[in-house]
Amino acid sequence: MDLSLTRRQQELINKVQEFMEKEISPSLLVPRATEGFDWDLVRKLARHNLVCPIVPKEYGGLGLDRFTTALIMEVIAAGHPGLAAVVAATLHAAEPIILAGSREQKERFLPSLTGRKAGLASFALTEPGGGSDLTKMETCAIKKDSAFFINGCKDYIINAPVASFISLIAATDHSRNKSSIRVFIIPGDLPGLKIGKRHTTSGLNYAAISEVIFDNTRLDESHVIREDEAGSGYLLLNQTFDRGRAMVAAISVGIARRAMEAAVEFAEEREQFGTRIKHHQAVAFALADMATDIEMARLLYWKAGWLIDQGGDYSTASAMAKLASSHIAQRVTCQAADIIGARAYEKGSLLEQLVRDARVLSTIEGTSNINRLLIASQL
Ligand SMILES: Cc1cc2nc3c(=O)[nH]c(=O)nc-3n(C[C@H](O)[C@H](O)[C@H](O)COP(=O)(O)OP(=O)(O)OC[C@H]3O[C@@H](n4cnc5c(N)ncnc54)[C@H](O)[C@@H]3O)c2cc1C
Repeated sequence: MDLSLTRRQQELINKVQEFMEKEISPSLLVPRATEGFDWDLVRKLARHNLVCPIVPKEYGGLGLDRFTTALIMEVIAAGHPGLAAVVAATLHAAEPIILAGSREQKERFLPSLTGRKAGLASFALTEPGGGSDLTKMETCAIKKDSAFFINGCKDYIINAPVASFISLIAATDHSRNKSSIRVFIIPGDLPGLKIGKRHTTSGLNYAAISEVIFDNTRLDESHVIREDEAGSGYLLLNQTFDRGRAMVAAISVGIARRAMEAAVEFAEEREQFGTRIKHHQAVAFALADMATDIEMARLLYWKAGWLIDQGGDYSTASAMAKLASSHIAQRVTCQAADIIGARAYEKGSLLEQLVRDARVLSTIEGTSNINRLLIASQL
């Protein structure tokens, strides 16, 4: 077993780390700078072609494997969690096209996520009536002649108001049967596509998150992925989630790492009872636990990312990585806030933001219970 990174991976990490520290991270601490989406940060990422690095080179992307992408997601999340969420949603939207899209679909949609003018994309599954329970899904795309007519509402969709395209999960009939699920590619400028209520979230609030409403919206038949294969949409949905969970796990590690680093820095400077607080054993032990938890979470997402690239069965590994690391991020951010004390409770301070960002990690990309169900089903 070789756990060392390749020279190219290490160079990429160093480059992204340096870029984040210089150009992105400082914006996290500017008062109210992260309250809402703007293109500025995405444009900076785009200069390095990092908006959707998994897009194959032939379509203008970096063609990174999922393990290397996860390494980079950790770095982006440590620098700016909201930006990492925006990138993760774009990866999630691109994944079904990369995995199963036709040549024409790849040529039409993937280049829009690459290069200096790269746009963003959304993945739309959740509905007001249910996020976890697919049998509650109401959005239907019914075929008539050479077009689909879509009705339904998706909710809490990251990037929806600004997306170049949306990868939409919908059923092709009203049966609520898994075999009728398909992935549809919705151009952001599709006539009749409506962006509904925009959400103001507690964390990750750089991201633009909203409802997406379809009211008999017409979509040309060329925009569905693998229409003819019953069950293919459900399989694709699961593959996409299994890959996305490794990315959310990496984001969790990035957030936890940033919190721990802030706590270490503070503990090395702050003096109480005549000594730096890092020399109080209780504080040092808390830091040791945090570092160990983070390393555990990192190894889990490394394994998941590695398995994805090997083409093996990565479903359980990804679910475990996401389940564990999201809780570790919540625990570590709170522990770090405890060490920093009152200053970490200041609105807009780093730790106050990281605690809020970490909170939602156990909800998105399958809640912790849904991941537990997945893991348990394989035991
Ligand atoms: C900031 C943010 C960004 C998001 N981005 C996106 C996005 O881009 N695209 C998208 O499609 N969705 C997105 N979501 C939605 C997210 O994926 C859902 O919130 C999530 O899937 C949970 O769905 P729900 O909130 O409807 O909760 P529910 O599914 O209603 O679940 C509520 C609670 O019940 C538990 N539960 C449900 N079923 C079971 C069961 N069988 N056994 C045990 N416990 C169960 C759940 O674990 C949870 O604790 C986002 C949400 C947020 C907050």
